[in-house]
Amino acid sequence: MDDQTKTRFSARTLVAQALGTHCPVTKGIVQPIHMSTTYVRDADNGYSAGYVYGRPDNVSVHQAERMIAALEGADEALLFGSGMAAATSVLLALDKPTHIVASQIMYYGFRDWLRDDIGRYGHGVTFVDSSNLDAVRAAVRPGQTGLFWIETPSNPLWTITDIAAVSEIAHTAGAILCVDSTVATPIFTRPLSLGADIVMHSATKYLNGHSDVVAGALATAGDNPLWQRIGKVRSHFGNTLSPFDSWLLMRGMRTLDIRVRAQAASAAWLAGKLVGHSAISAVLYPGLEKHVGHDVAARQMKGGFGGMLSIRIKKGDKAAVAVAACVELWNRATSLGGIESLIEHRSSIEGAGTPVPSDLLRLSVGLEDVDELYYDLTRALSVAS
Ligand SMILES: *Cc1c(COP(=O)(O)O)cnc(C)c1O
Repeated sequence: MDDQTKTRFSARTLVAQALGTHCPVTKGIVQPIHMSTTYVRDADNGYSAGYVYGRPDNVSVHQAERMIAALEGADEALLFGSGMAAATSVLLALDKPTHIVASQIMYYGFRDWLRDDIGRYGHGVTFVDSSNLDAVRAAVRPGQTGLFWIETPSNPLWTITDIAAVSEIAHTAGAILCVDSTVATPIFTRPLSLGADIVMHSATKYLNGHSDVVAGALATAGDNPLWQRIGKVRSHFGNTLSPFDSWLLMRGMRTLDIRVRAQAASAAWLAGKLVGHSAISAVLYPGLEKHVGHDVAARQMKGGFGGMLSIRIKKGDKAAVAVAACVELWNRATSLGGIESLIEHRSSIEGAGTPVPSDLLRLSVGLEDVDELYYDLTRALSVAS
């Protein structure tokens, strides 16, 4: 499928057929996994196939990258060994001491790294409530702020940041906007079309979707000076994804559209049913009209509000842990975006200093029968709280 053909088709069609690529040798409808770490030179000393060495160059990795680029409407995508490797590579590529403005509520692993380690690289960070545009504007340090890092919906309160508005603030400041869009997925939000310069995914989550690959991705609209350096950082640090994992990721992405739509439909249904439950003080889900970010979410998320929600347990943290202990169908596990529904008491994994309330349970809705998920959760709620 050439680039012109690609623009004619929807994301669902493109990924279902892995962009329509076939094995050039056998015409197999599924691509082989390219495992070679090195490539033969031509007699004239050139590399006419364009491949030199496995760390920067691998066909299986590039095929998966092209699928992600197509999904995000991006010029280019890069795959990394994890979401954290993708995120940290953006920061490691900054070429001078830079002030970063970042969402207060975000994936805690990256927030902790920014808070504890970014100073060692000469950079500084200001965390803001990025759903509050005045707070974002106030955090800008003219001449110093070079990067905005936002996550929306943000884990695990599902606060919504207005990507288009923050992109305007970032660009006025002469800065780059990077959006962690792991939870939204390219099916519901395309940050690059809203003005973001770089979109990031923990591909471990929805993109792969089967809880069997750890991977990260960045994609760019092109034309920003940071991007070339990010590619070099990946090559120098050896942070690329393995060919086998890239192949598994491609296999996972083929069903991305249908999976996340089903997960979002179930999450929306559960959120609606759980509102007003006597053991629950709050249901956090951007699809609920009462959610503070609902209007912005309805504008920038097309077709669904994602498969993640959180509930707060009226009787507090011990009762929340007890609810998680009483479920039979939901899995007590960290991570999100897989086929299996997961439940997690977030504050116990995030540790001291977390902004996450201790009575909060995070729910990653999978592909099981939604009535059965609801029954299992409400039974645990009535037993434990
Ligand atoms: C999991 C996650 C990450 C980190 O990705 P890894 O693949 O675990 O390194 C970053 N952002 C979000 C929103 C995540 O859920």
